[in-house]
Amino acid sequence: MSETLLYSGKAKDLFSTDDPEVLKMIYKDQATALNGKRKEQITGKGEVNYEISKLIFAYLSQQGIETHLIKNVSETEQLVKKVTIIPLEVVLRNVVAGSFARKFGQPLGQRLEQPIIEYYYKNDALDDPAINISQATALKLVTPTEVATIEAMTKQINTLLIKLFNEIGIDLIDFKLEFGRYQGRLILADEFSPDNCRLWDQKTHSSLDKDVFRQNKGDLVTVYETVLQRLTKMIGGSTNV
Ligand code: UDP
Repeated sequence: MSETLLYSGKAKDLFSTDDPEVLKMIYKDQATALNGKRKEQITGKGEVNYEISKLIFAYLSQQGIETHLIKNVSETEQLVKKVTIIPLEVVLRNVVAGSFARKFGQPLGQRLEQPIIEYYYKNDALDDPAINISQATALKLVTPTEVATIEAMTKQINTLLIKLFNEIGIDLIDFKLEFGRYQGRLILADEFSPDNCRLWDQKTHSSLDKDVFRQNKGDLVTVYETVLQRLTKMIGGSTNV
């Protein structure tokens, strides 16, 4: 199999495969914060994120959300559809946390009346600046029709995942998604793991996500494994992955 490294991200690498329509995605043991300025190797992180993302994507796909995931290959490797990534990070917030709390001086943990969707321009050199829809469409990063689809899919994913996490005693505070163009459609790409969302335990209110690393609050892999165990109990048998 001829495999060339096409892209090396903070948490994953992407390789070409013999099939030009298919890429191989490998989850790495690297953790970053402050947009990559702080970097650490954490043994086992790639595997646990792979397992969590695999379950969530399989679940979403069962619920009718098209994703880029084709097949899981090994403990850290997935085959995915080759998409053209829309260079926007789509953040949805249910509860005040992170940059929203800091930027707007809002109390951490306050539930928002309606979910908020924010966009960031995926551009490391510019430090992923916040962008609004008129800016993003003016820059031709996305079309207005695509924006409508992204918003609808993001809200639908939120509804599905709030319910799923609620069933395993976890509040879904916020998350980040990425979408790609594939054969004229928009599909969910990238990953869904505690690296890209905030998950708070409903009983203890402790973080079960990357805030553990960002704020040195505990062992990242142990915490992520708690999420994986609860998810596996809930949907591990039904997702056929
Ligand atoms: N997020 C992400 N990648 C980024 C920035 C944010 O996955 O480059 C996720 C983050 O984990 C959180 C949500 O998006 O679940 C909102 O992040 P926020 O804007 O609060 O930024 P932070 O405080 O994490 O820097």
